[in-house]
Amino acid sequence: MKKIVFATSNPHKLEELQAICKGHCDVEFVLPPQGFDPLENGKTFEENSLIKAREAAKISGLPALADDSGLCVDALNGAPGIHSARYAETPQKRIDKLLNVMKDKTNRNAKFVCVMTLVDSTGKTLCRKRGECHGFIAYSQAGTHGFGYDPIFTVEGKNCTMAELSEEEKNLISHRGRALEQILTFLKELH
Ligand code: IMP
Repeated sequence: MKKIVFATSNPHKLEELQAICKGHCDVEFVLPPQGFDPLENGKTFEENSLIKAREAAKISGLPALADDSGLCVDALNGAPGIHSARYAETPQKRIDKLLNVMKDKTNRNAKFVCVMTLVDSTGKTLCRKRGECHGFIAYSQAGTHGFGYDPIFTVEGKNCTMAELSEEEKNLISHRGRALEQILTFLKELH
């Protein structure tokens, strides 16, 4: 079994990744060693995922996979985008702020974006994939599953928010699930 560092300090993301991979690939994903604190100063999801992957490979000496993700809202010209995690102090404050900013907007179109970059132990890019999940910003929050903006993101084609889906249902259609599926295909083809 191959070991790949998953460059995150977000345990929800590692859980989602492990759930998606279960039974589908011969890779053990592990968290980076202590001291993992990349300077995410890129201007795009692509740049930030590469920064994180390279930092994790550097401090672990192992191949590394990183994701950078966020919520892009059409009426806000793509904001909060790469700043999604820092849009306000806490997850609930981020939700409240977005609902408030969106309260008079009729265009509710939004998408979750995830870019995953896999690098080897020297930091060289092996593969980069993007996954998107389209939907709308709800008028109020609903659901308790998932994390982040899930309770205010109505999934296109479903009559509910992302936070009302089960973990399995979310993984099938999520931006991260879609990006990861392509990364797993790449990993399988390596053998
Ligand atoms: P990252 O850790 O820099 O990729 O930050 C991503 C941020 O975007 C998270 O902290 C969440 O606020 C938001 N986000 C990304 N993926 C999801 C998701 O699947 N559901 C809800 N919010 C998400």
